[in-house]
Amino acid sequence: MLFELLINFCILFTFAVLSYWPFQDVVRSNFPFPKTHPYIIGIIAGLAGFILMESAVNLSDLIILDARHVVIVISGIFGGPIAPIISGLIIGVTRMFIMEEFTTTGILAGLNVILMGIVIGAFSFKYRMTFRNAHLYFYYATAQTALLIVYIMYPALNNVHEVLYYIIYSAFSFFTVLFILIELNEHFKKIRHTELLSETDYLTGLYNNRKFHQLTHSYITESTKPFSMISIDIDSFKKVNDIYGHPAGDEILRELGKRLKDLVSENEGYVTRNGGEQFAVLIANSPPAMGLYLGERIRSSVASTPFLVSDNLEVSITVSVGVSSYPDNGSTIQELYSAADSAMYEAKANGRNRVIHFTNKKA
Ligand code: GH3
Ligand code: MG
Repeated sequence: MLFELLINFCILFTFAVLSYWPFQDVVRSNFPFPKTHPYIIGIIAGLAGFILMESAVNLSDLIILDARHVVIVISGIFGGPIAPIISGLIIGVTRMFIMEEFTTTGILAGLNVILMGIVIGAFSFKYRMTFRNAHLYFYYATAQTALLIVYIMYPALNNVHEVLYYIIYSAFSFFTVLFILIELNEHFKKIRHTELLSETDYLTGLYNNRKFHQLTHSYITESTKPFSMISIDIDSFKKVNDIYGHPAGDEILRELGKRLKDLVSENEGYVTRNGGEQFAVLIANSPPAMGLYLGERIRSSVASTPFLVSDNLEVSITVSVGVSSYPDNGSTIQELYSAADSAMYEAKANGRNRVIHFTNKKA
């Protein structure tokens, strides 16, 4: 019996991983179409429940022991309210019609899981199932099934140990699987956090230079339309630091990051801090004239509104801006970046607080 229970547990564990792993957005080949996930998880859980019943342990002529109710609960953690309803239906119907041909026990056991799926689904519409509260749903599912086992066995209640086996096995399988899933989830969270750190600038929260290179690379490889790169450098920032102090300088960098983000919406392009007081903007579907236009908006927005660095201190700064465009000014990251940079240095040389497109740069 122990060996059979172990097999049953392995099936449950496989299902638990399959209903979790492929639906995480940090794994390389995750399932597309997020809206279909609850249904897919419900169906996987239903099939897993069926396999569990097929490999169940016979406790007596009437009672078979397996973890089908655990599958229904677990499906609710990852698939939301829809998944337990679907899995309960699949498991219930197969229990009634396939496992046994419409016996009283089969019907009762089938109706038990169908009801269980509906109740869990209905409750989790109101109280979303999470790792933290999943055990409450499990207690309900176990209690309902234990009562059914007692009812089916009645009046031969001298075999109470069958109910006990059921409860012990259920608790063992549920809490072991839950523990491993929580561990996996923690690891995924850490991976996500580390990935985010590796591409974020700590001071402004913008993407960093490394991400800038990745984004430019994907624009070059995926974009069929022209795009523009804007290089922005604060003018005489060293003086600002010298006069107002480094913390004030930091505040200006943060505020400039915010202003740039306000000027460039998420679906238009990206803002990055490439180091020190140098920022960049990548703007999709943007031929040279559009890149130049956005560069000018950035320059004028910085020059026209002073930066509030503390309660009663406002500092005025200006930026010099260089623009390059793909494919006119280059077809590699290096070519585009050095074009934007050299246009920016020309803007500096021409007196700062101005915008120059590489194409308009004097030789
Ligand atoms: P230019 O107009 O030619 O760009 O002059 P600049 O003073 O801005 O350029 P320079 O390269 O001489 O100095 C850049 C300054 O930016 C020096 C440095 O103190 C300051 N800076 C770089 N990173 C940070 C930072 O994270 N915080 C602060 N507060 N200052 C920074
Ligand atoms: Mg500077």
